[in-house]
Amino acid sequence: ATVASLEGVTKRYANGTLAVRGVDLAVQRGDFVSLLGPSGCGKSTVLRMMAGLIAPSSGRIEVAGGGETGDIGFVFQEPTLMPWSSALKNVMLPLRLAGMARAEAERRARAALDSVGLAGFEGSYPRALSGGMKMRVSIARALVTKPRLLLMDEPFAALDEITRHKLNNDLLKLWEAERFTAVFVTHSVFESVYLSRRIVVMAARPGRVVEDLAVDAPYPRG
Ligand code: ADP
Ligand code: ADP
Repeated sequence: ATVASLEGVTKRYANGTLAVRGVDLAVQRGDFVSLLGPSGCGKSTVLRMMAGLIAPSSGRIEVAGGGETGDIGFVFQEPTLMPWSSALKNVMLPLRLAGMARAEAERRARAALDSVGLAGFEGSYPRALSGGMKMRVSIARALVTKPRLLLMDEPFAALDEITRHKLNNDLLKLWEAERFTAVFVTHSVFESVYLSRRIVVMAARPGRVVEDLAVDAPYPRG
């Protein structure tokens, strides 16, 4: 089933910049897609349009609804956690906002934190967590609603290489277990090949899709 589709999508920003032109892209359920390309080729623009954060100038975008308590989970480059709330409360928040009872929200938030390797850190506040752990909380918060589509904008770009590599491994294991549908932006060829199962390559001036490649064999992992 198609979870998201873009047809002939063009985005021109208010200042006249033509960010992307004629983008066609269909994301199928269970896809793990990376948008790969140099800075400025329009990767974030495509992701933000899929999230509905910005509107296309022309073309069609459809994102299927029907997520359990949210259609889209979004992970920003900088984890945007509530500093005055514990990891548990941060992950419970989208469920509580969707009207879920406290006990059930807490049960699910604990399971989500456990799934990203943060069992035992439920009571920790963001200031006490490392950058990688904050990113894990952000991923747990995005996945706890069981969204139809998980979108991540250069999720690991701000992390050191070792932390980044651990997160890649753990996210891949989580995807293998849960098969959520995800699209993430990266300018790292390594990350695209290692983490995603489909690489959509973009080029700049104007931003456009130039290749759409399946990665069918998992990258060997130690
Ligand atoms: P990428 O994520 O691949 O680095 P972006 O989608 O951020 O690319 O940007 C694509 C182009 O659109 C770039 O030329 C960028 O400078 C421009 N751009 C991005 N956001 C805006 C904005 N809000 N207003 C004007 N131009 C923008
Ligand atoms: P490029 O954008 O030219 O593909 P990369 O960002 O992929 O460059 O690579 C820069 C360096 O960082 C390389 O040595 C690469 O092996 C390493 N690297 C890139 N991504 C990761 C990652 N996710 N985990 C560990 N190392 C990485």
